[in-house]
Amino acid sequence: MQQQCPKCLYPASHPFGIVISDSSCSGCKTHDEKYSIDWSAKREKLESLIKPYKKAHSQYDCVVPVVGDAEDFYTLSLVLELGLAPLVVCVNDYFKNDIGWKNLHQLITYFDVDSFTFNPDMRVYKDLVRTSLRKFDHILLPFLQLHTSFPVHVAYERKIPLIIWGQNQAVEQVGKFSHFDCAEMSRWSRREHDLFGKEIETAIGNGAQVDERCLNYYSYPKTLDLDRRKVRGLYLSNYLKWDPLEQNQNIVDCGYTPQHNTSSFDIYERAGSSVYYQFHDLLKYKRQGYRKISDHVAREIRHGRILSREAREIIDFYTQSKIDIEPFFKWLDVSPSGLEWYKMHRLQSVSHLIGKASSDAITLPSAITMLLNEAKVPEKQHIVFGKGLHI
Ligand SMILES: [Zn+2]
Repeated sequence: MQQQCPKCLYPASHPFGIVISDSSCSGCKTHDEKYSIDWSAKREKLESLIKPYKKAHSQYDCVVPVVGDAEDFYTLSLVLELGLAPLVVCVNDYFKNDIGWKNLHQLITYFDVDSFTFNPDMRVYKDLVRTSLRKFDHILLPFLQLHTSFPVHVAYERKIPLIIWGQNQAVEQVGKFSHFDCAEMSRWSRREHDLFGKEIETAIGNGAQVDERCLNYYSYPKTLDLDRRKVRGLYLSNYLKWDPLEQNQNIVDCGYTPQHNTSSFDIYERAGSSVYYQFHDLLKYKRQGYRKISDHVAREIRHGRILSREAREIIDFYTQSKIDIEPFFKWLDVSPSGLEWYKMHRLQSVSHLIGKASSDAITLPSAITMLLNEAKVPEKQHIVFGKGLHI
């Protein structure tokens, strides 16, 4: 069994890099800053930082990248509260279910903001997903490439030099930086934390047969160009006290629909995806030795809503939940015999987790359940819409 933080139970295999000591970990230590920071001073700092970007005569003050989940609603509500005029940008990952599309449209309608969705070439995208699966056991890398670079291209091309992100995961999960560092978006941070060191070039050549000219938006813009236009990206969680479960519970008041999943109790984060708590979670387990539930439990232990001694049972319960992988392979146009080959040769180590999810439930601490609203089960998975083939 691999080393774990004695407090939040995060494993040492976290891909961002985590430092574990006898009593806690770097993530727990950074989290504890939240209880001593003068948050009103932090907010003042944020307001003075964004002030020069408020241009009454210009259409947009900032770009806000979204996927359409609860945290995006929260982030966008803060952006508007701060008095910024946002241009909302979403990259279609072709993995949304009916709840995902409904939530994205609700976000745009409820806040009445200008937005657009980028629909990448489906043939190229699928080729990259296929290669990323084969080479890196990761199916979201092509989307993550786009999600973290396309909005930056938009900021550059449209001369909107401010990008607002919600949380900085490297701070919130493993405490890679202090809240006082106020780490900003960068090419290095993107490669290190969003792409796990895998730039798009690693997926082509002996992988996807894709012309490099098709990959412009998958790559980060040139640093010199961004410097010239002074494009910068801020993370709100460096300036405002971030507590996802607590803040997301109120988002249903904006018409947001939480989604039930069998891999975690968190019904808000990345609700609306057909793969995030399914095949993506299975591959995370294969690569890192832990599943998404460990991220959520670590977060809730730190916020005092789960005790370390009751956490093991919760992690074990969700880590054993089974995943139906067939819908993803159908989306990828893999034949039934191809799927059987893949299961036999590439998914042997996680074969005990493949199958239909059971309806068993676990009793959760009341501090958690009181923050959970009614969640829905999607009626239709893998709704391909945009440049795709069918709805
Ligand atoms: Zn810890």
